[in-house]
Amino acid sequence: MANRKRIGILGGTFDPVHIGHLRGALEVAEFMALDELRLVPSARPPHRETPQVGARDRLAMVEQAVADLPPLRVDDRELRRDKPSYSIDTLESLRSELAVDDQLFLILGWDAFCGLPAWHRWDELLQHCHILVLQRPDAGSEASEPLRDLMAARNVADPLALQGPAGQLSFIWQTPLAVSATQIRSLLANDRSVRFLVPDAVLAYINAHGLYRG
Ligand code: ATP
Repeated sequence: MANRKRIGILGGTFDPVHIGHLRGALEVAEFMALDELRLVPSARPPHRETPQVGARDRLAMVEQAVADLPPLRVDDRELRRDKPSYSIDTLESLRSELAVDDQLFLILGWDAFCGLPAWHRWDELLQHCHILVLQRPDAGSEASEPLRDLMAARNVADPLALQGPAGQLSFIWQTPLAVSATQIRSLLANDRSVRFLVPDAVLAYINAHGLYRG
C-alpha cells in the first residue's frame, strides 16, 4: 500500500478561476496529503449556461494560476472530448489510468454537491471516487432527500479516515471565501477591479485578452 497514490479532482467552468477555487484546492491538497490535485475545466457543462469565455482562454487562465504550484495541476481531458462534460466519464477515464488501490477524491463545493442528483449516472460516482464537500459561504442551496440519504449511508466524519479507493463521503473545512466567478465577471463588466480575487497572472491574462469587459 506504500505506493498508493492519492489524487484529488476539482471540476468547474473556471470562468474565470479565482481564489475560492485555488485556496480551497490548496488547503484540501495539504490537509489530505494528496499527491496531486487536478483542476479539470469543463467544455460544455451539462447543467448550466455556456461559459462566457471560450475553453482555450479558461484553460490558459487555470494553467497560469497553477504554474509552479504543486501539487495543483491542470487536467484538460474534458476539453479534448467532443461531448458534454460528464463527471462520470472523467472519473472512468481517470480510473483507467490508475492502480486499483489508488485513492481518488472528487472535490465539490456545497452548491455543486446539492446539484449532484441531476448529474448523469450520479449514483455511480462513488464507485470510482470518494467525495469531499467544501463549504461555500456564499451558497444558499439545501440538500435534497436523495442527498440526505447518501450522507446517512456514506458520510465519514473525519476526511482523513476515508478508507479504500472509493465509496465514501466527507465534509472538509477550508478558509471560507465568498468569492464566485459570477461576481468577478460582473465586476469586470462594470469596469471595477478584481485585484486579489484572482491571481495576478490571471488578471494579466484577462487584461491582455480583453476578457469579460463591458
Ligand atoms: P459561477 O459563479 O460562474 O457559477 P463558480 O465561482 O461557482 O462559478 P465554478 O467553476 O462553477 O465556479 O466552480 C467549480 C467548483 O468550485 C464547484 O464545485 C464550486 O462549488 C467550487 N467553488 C467555487 N467557488 C468556491 C468558493 N468560493 N468556495 C468553495 N468552493 C467553491
